[in-house]
Amino acid sequence: MILVTGGAGFIGANFVLDWLDGVDEAVINVDKLTYSGHLGTLRPLHGDPSHIFVRADICDRSTIDVLLADYQPRAIVHFAAQNHVDYSIDSPNDFVHTNIVGTYTLLEAARCYWNGLQSDERDAFRFLHVSTDEVFGSLNLSDPPFSEDSHYQPDSPYCATKASADHLVRAWGHTYGLPTLTTHCSNNYGPYQFPDKPIPQLITNALMGRALPVHGDGQHVRDWLYVGDHCSAIRKILAKGRPGEAYNIGGWNEVKNIDLVHLVCDLLDQYKPKRTGSYRDQITWLTERLGHDRRYATDARKLERELGWKPAETFESGLARTVRWYVEHEQWTHEVATGDFRDWVETTHQKRA
Ligand code: NAD
Repeated sequence: MILVTGGAGFIGANFVLDWLDGVDEAVINVDKLTYSGHLGTLRPLHGDPSHIFVRADICDRSTIDVLLADYQPRAIVHFAAQNHVDYSIDSPNDFVHTNIVGTYTLLEAARCYWNGLQSDERDAFRFLHVSTDEVFGSLNLSDPPFSEDSHYQPDSPYCATKASADHLVRAWGHTYGLPTLTTHCSNNYGPYQFPDKPIPQLITNALMGRALPVHGDGQHVRDWLYVGDHCSAIRKILAKGRPGEAYNIGGWNEVKNIDLVHLVCDLLDQYKPKRTGSYRDQITWLTERLGHDRRYATDARKLERELGWKPAETFESGLARTVRWYVEHEQWTHEVATGDFRDWVETTHQKRA
């Protein structure tokens, strides 16, 4: 079996659902259920003995030790993180705790467990750390996309904590020989993403008749990847990636923020037309965000060359699937946007005010 952290969040849950749909290998899913972790997403797995959910903090070393000893996983796939840039500016403490101390705790637990394995099991073991291309900073419009050799230049507390975690993972591989893999992925979108992230936020605000915020001049560029493609890349890297290596994962979909907003509005006009006018009428311009990076773009050629991975979705097909999913699953958005999440956002906004 494999151990997954953060498997009740957006990408982790998509990964666990896809994994158990296609592979006959159990998953231990360790998640603290912070505001962005939602057990309802894993409802299709209720009663499935291949899915063992454990509510725990990755910083809790003794629990991680017990899980490794009891279940003897052949790999750890580490998604758990605090990952909202704006929140990291307001409250960096949680980010340092989970992203740095949590990753360190997992690495140490994994190292002790791995040291005790038989030699063939030691060779087969993998620690896959899911990171982001945002650790490389921001690009100008004419710069080439980030490669695996780009310099680290994190611009926000979130990116700095992810960069720190990357360095710890690299050092544990280099110093102790732990078979680690690191992935740097571009911006993800797809089903089950929290409504505080750009695409689901746009869709839910549009459907509720609210303003559709665009920051600055709207010319910021992001490279979007459909979450199912991120999950297939991770499966490929876990199976065939070379220990000690990092792999960029991207969709070759550089899109300006204002173009993204127009595309989402046009899809909504198609799937859930308003009685009068277009969703574009709800677009509202806001001032620039603190530390708003200009452009991210990821060069994923190494992954294609070495492991034969390519994204299956185009931006058009993935975005259409995503917008349709949110239109058909308004109840999911309602469930996750209440309770802990609402309380947490209110407290954060009060602090900011
Ligand atoms: P998410 O916020 O939706 O999910 C994170 C999950 O981690 C949640 O279920 C949360 O409960 C859990 N978690 C948080 N702190 C924890 C702790 N201390 N112990 C145990 N569980 C904890 O995030 P996501 O978008 O699914 O991102 C997953 C990973 O992918 C992160 O490491 C992120 O940096 C990386 N990533 C995300 C994107 C993106 O566009 N979303 C892009 C590239 C990389």
